Amino acid sequence: MDKVISWIDETREQSIEKLARLISQPSVSSTGEGVEECAQLLVEMLTEVGLDAKVMPTKGLPAVYAERIAPGTPTVIFYGHYDVQPVGDLSLWETPPFEPDIRNGRMYGRGTGDNKGQLLTHIIAVDAFLKTYGELPCSVKFLLDGEEESGSPNLGDFVEENKELLKADVCYFADGPIHYSGRPQVVFGCRGIIDVEIVLDENIRDCHSGHYGALIPNPAWRLVHLLKTMKDAGGKVLVEGFYDKVRPITPAEEEVLKHIPFDVESYFEGVRYPGTGPEWDRIEALKAHMFQPTMTITGLGSGYTGEGVATIVPAKAVCKIDMRLVADQDPDEIFELIEKHVKKHLPEAKVSGHGKMYPSRTELELPISQAIIGAVKRAWGVDPVVVPSSGASCPEYVFTQILEMPTISVPYANPDENNHAPNENFDLDLFIQGIKTTAHVIDTIAKHEEW
Ligand SMILES: [Zn+2]
Repeated sequence: MDKVISWIDETREQSIEKLARLISQPSVSSTGEGVEECAQLLVEMLTEVGLDAKVMPTKGLPAVYAERIAPGTPTVIFYGHYDVQPVGDLSLWETPPFEPDIRNGRMYGRGTGDNKGQLLTHIIAVDAFLKTYGELPCSVKFLLDGEEESGSPNLGDFVEENKELLKADVCYFADGPIHYSGRPQVVFGCRGIIDVEIVLDENIRDCHSGHYGALIPNPAWRLVHLLKTMKDAGGKVLVEGFYDKVRPITPAEEEVLKHIPFDVESYFEGVRYPGTGPEWDRIEALKAHMFQPTMTITGLGSGYTGEGVATIVPAKAVCKIDMRLVADQDPDEIFELIEKHVKKHLPEAKVSGHGKMYPSRTELELPISQAIIGAVKRAWGVDPVVVPSSGASCPEYVFTQILEMPTISVPYANPDENNHAPNENFDLDLFIQGIKTTAHVIDTIAKHEEW
């Protein structure tokens, strides 16, 4: 490993140049800008390293696939996404988003942290082994998504159709920031999500609240009454069956919770929340965040909400809800439960679904899970923070549920990477540290025996 690590240090400038090359190519999935060109560029970069790479069509924007097989060795599949968020208000960028600029040890540009810089670390780590030894100690595959920032709507079908091609022993990826304490984190899952909209349209016009308010049913009140049947004031979801499939916390997960640094107060301060809500115990807060589903009203509207007053009975009320789901909840089943609940309590309301993602969780108890924690520790020289699940959602389920392999992620970016925001950036020391981390992971997977 020493030789590989030295090579990574010696070629630091070339690696930074590669990152600049990738950032200079726009690839905005929401508009399609540059996506095809970026897929081509990645095929070029993967081929230069010595992998068999190709652009593969999906029902939407293309994916990039690459492999290099070392017969008789375990296989890791690296996931990443090469599409980026739209740049937003250009006037808020200090330098143009697709003209990478290095300031204070960071590269600025759209996609530096999320996710081009992070996926590139895996490609360069593979290069490090090939340049040092002429061969790889394990087999590697890459699946690079071109639609992640648009919710990966076609990834599930693509993976389903290419199961044999994508077969591997473990999936590894890097996305998001390191732990805010400065330590690396190893993440074993994410929550799923389902978005629903409930609309009560009385099919009348807005009418005079004095002349009609006593007699005409008010959709806003009716919707509010429905919502009251869905979740209580303490936060418990009241929809029948909602919690039925929630996977119990394992002893190993219970144990790592004790060691996750988490300061509830500064967590609230981060969003300027004055902390008038319930007191949270640290462990209970972590459990709620990782192992419990949520039901969040994300939008609620009816009648007149502008300045002054409009004395009307509104014609229509709308509520948007998202539910973050945990292993082993199924978004389709949850949608059916919501439909059933609404049918019972407010049958005139219409329920529709708007996007979903399955939850994913890999067991901490697996030998490979422990091995990767060890690899990260060796790469960083400190104990990583072990996170059983992220609170957010990502398409990890395609690996754990469709391809049925353990899936582990280690984020490499700085906590202030400004992903999805202006002046996105990637700390270049962390970028290089990411390459070294992936190199340790490759070495660990190659030596791992207990699959
Ligand atoms: Zn993103």
